[in-house]
Amino acid sequence: MLTKHLSIMWSPDEIASICYNHFNKLPKRGKPEAGREWTLLASVILLTDSSDQKTVHKQVVSLGTGTKCIGQSAMSMKGDVLNDSHAEVIARRGCVRYLTEQLYKAVSGQSSDVFCPGTEEGKWTVKPGVSFLFFTSQTPCGDASIFPMTGSQAQPCEPVKAVQKEESERRGLKRQAESELEETRPGPGMKTSDNNHSSCRKSGDSNQDEVIIENKACNQLNDVSHFQPDVKKVCPPDLHRTGAKCVPDGPADPLKPGLLYHSVGVLRVKPGRGDRTLSLSCSDKLARWGILGIQGALLSHYLQGPICFSAVVVGKGSYSHQAMERALKTRCSHVRGLPSSFSVRAPELLQANLEFTHNHTHTESKHTHSQGRISPCGAAISWSAVSQQPLDVTANGYKQGVTKKALGTLQARSLISKVELFHSFLKLVAATEDSHLPETLRGKDLRTYWDYKQAAETYQQAWTQLRLQAFPLWPRSPRELLLFH
Ligand SMILES: [Zn+2]
Repeated sequence: MLTKHLSIMWSPDEIASICYNHFNKLPKRGKPEAGREWTLLASVILLTDSSDQKTVHKQVVSLGTGTKCIGQSAMSMKGDVLNDSHAEVIARRGCVRYLTEQLYKAVSGQSSDVFCPGTEEGKWTVKPGVSFLFFTSQTPCGDASIFPMTGSQAQPCEPVKAVQKEESERRGLKRQAESELEETRPGPGMKTSDNNHSSCRKSGDSNQDEVIIENKACNQLNDVSHFQPDVKKVCPPDLHRTGAKCVPDGPADPLKPGLLYHSVGVLRVKPGRGDRTLSLSCSDKLARWGILGIQGALLSHYLQGPICFSAVVVGKGSYSHQAMERALKTRCSHVRGLPSSFSVRAPELLQANLEFTHNHTHTESKHTHSQGRISPCGAAISWSAVSQQPLDVTANGYKQGVTKKALGTLQARSLISKVELFHSFLKLVAATEDSHLPETLRGKDLRTYWDYKQAAETYQQAWTQLRLQAFPLWPRSPRELLLFH
């Protein structure tokens, strides 16, 4: 059981240390320049019990870094650009790549570290004694990042003053922040991630006329004053903030001083420069993966149930267990009527005492003025435990280093882009003997990425229930962006 894992099998510090070491061993390409650039890191770790169940083998199967997200106008209809390059999302996509190869091995009669035949024809299940956990070097952006500051914490944001004053300040600072981004931004449409270290002063245009619309599903969560910080309150109390904005048509942030700046428990989209992004915050995505699994709709054709994380470990830094519980668990805990292979699972939430030395706080402490302005690293690194080309470094959603002319060509595609993951999935289907094909893929005329996703009926039913009951305002991806093949 998990308790056994925690006390005997692994500790949060051990997991953090494995992930940092793995990062340190990767080649330099795409890494931040020490003391000047910072980034975020996330990993998926495979845990395998030994046969006597006394030890557990830990293996990083996917690692991601990155801080950026592209705006809606830079999205591609060919599925060949990474829209969301936050480390957590890169790590999940790399994990899908890994799982696809593991399934390929399983269907073609080679041994897989992860899968064994399920009880249903054409379906596979995770081997007994195998589980996955998720590590992220920082509190995920969005809802989990909103919590009261405490006296002992380094305060990454300036305390909030009166709204009126702050509003005029923000106008000025926003321009400054944007020009800052102009210099560091590698290309059009990208914007630095919001996270709780960096974005307070860039956190959106406030509109004082905005009214708070209560979200009934989250009503009880909407009052941040329910918090009881574990350390003495500072005076005046203030919130850690997120730059991710509330989704359109939902409750807006009150933007009042101190604890009343944000609404809590609501869906948020990552900030984009110029135009809005369609990418949900990492808090929202982690909550969704908690129920639907990390494998996505395509691989769910082959699986008897979703693959969920048994634990989420966060590196040293600003952290609130209560906010993590709310963002990742409470918002979905009431969901009922899921298909039988799905359930409301609750990952264990833990924090490590080890800091990622390339995070914002550490980078700032090492920074000297001669190095120029501190900035987020523009590249995203994906590494996954696959046999061919495990490393994939991107910037602006395409392979790093491709010329403008090459954008849109095969060479420019990231191996974890939608279209590349789709093609790996089609290879898996092609390698599966007809008699062993999952029922949902038999005798159907499926062509596009959209077709294959929609055909994953049970997964889609689960998503419908989750959306209806917990996330009715989750924006839908425009269908025209998913019709590639
Ligand atoms: Zn994020």
